[in-house]
Amino acid sequence: MIPRTQPKQPVILSKAQNLSISPLSLLRDLRATLAAFVLTSLPLFFLLLPPATQAQPAKGKVSGTAVYNVTRELLAAAPKRYYGSPGHTDAEKFIKDHFAPEEKAGHLETDAFTASTPAGMQSLRNYIVKFPGKKDGIIVLGSHYETNYPLKDTAFVGANDGACTTALLIEIGEYLRTHPPSGYSVYLVFFDGEEAVKEWSHSDSLYGSRHLAAKLFNDGTLSKIKGFVLADMIGDKHLDIDQDANSDPKMVDLLKTAAKETGHAGAISSDTTPMEDDTLPFHQRGVPVVDVIDYDYGPHDNAHPDGYHHTPEDTIDKISAQSLQASADIFMQMIVLIDQH
Ligand code: ZN
Repeated sequence: MIPRTQPKQPVILSKAQNLSISPLSLLRDLRATLAAFVLTSLPLFFLLLPPATQAQPAKGKVSGTAVYNVTRELLAAAPKRYYGSPGHTDAEKFIKDHFAPEEKAGHLETDAFTASTPAGMQSLRNYIVKFPGKKDGIIVLGSHYETNYPLKDTAFVGANDGACTTALLIEIGEYLRTHPPSGYSVYLVFFDGEEAVKEWSHSDSLYGSRHLAAKLFNDGTLSKIKGFVLADMIGDKHLDIDQDANSDPKMVDLLKTAAKETGHAGAISSDTTPMEDDTLPFHQRGVPVVDVIDYDYGPHDNAHPDGYHHTPEDTIDKISAQSLQASADIFMQMIVLIDQH
């Protein structure tokens, strides 16, 4: 919230003590009185208005249809994006091509590293796109872009799991290019290596985020992060975003506020299952994080005990522009809210 200052006292408008005046001087006095009234009342009027950021929620700034279309383009350019595959390289090119102006300005950073995995040493790359703001501090918005490695020999493309949230960040970047942040700087982080290579464990998962959290801790950037908002699986046609118990409770509150203020309160479920996601390595180092994830994806029947999650049925027909609109609105409002706190 912006600090509220006490409105100034209005000046005394009466000139009743001066009774022997001509009609002309009376008119002059009346004009002066009116001018004084307007000048003293205008600041009061503006003080009584709610802050501009509250009056105009970040609704519709980023188009859900545009996010949906970029998802389709990414899936066409790089349907399989597991590391070591040509599709992984295609996905990297897709991201970099969308941020050519930022790369030219030196605001696209490639965080390349090697990870020891059950499938051997892998070359991984996170991408960080920076939009400098006016205040000292950073808001991080993130998503992973690679596809699940154990599913590499199936038809799995991860429309909801990786593709649509990568597209969401790309479209947020399009907006920030023409509307630079007025508060904290905004960093878009495209994580590699979120998925386990063999079986989820502390050592076999979150390769990209563990690497980046350590790197940003070592170079002193981590302490400047005011909030980290992660997007995961939030294109689901039936959007019900969890209240992740492994996230910062204050950030979860901000998430609920952002959803309410943009008219998407119904998109937040009461589920508080703790998630292990790319937010975790940052959370463990004290960064305020929220994992914006809808883990409940598709039907839960014998054919789909875990819904469409990690199945070849995670395809573009299971996500919608409407859900992506809600997710985009909520993410843009999170920027506004973190700026105010
Ligand atoms: Zn996944």
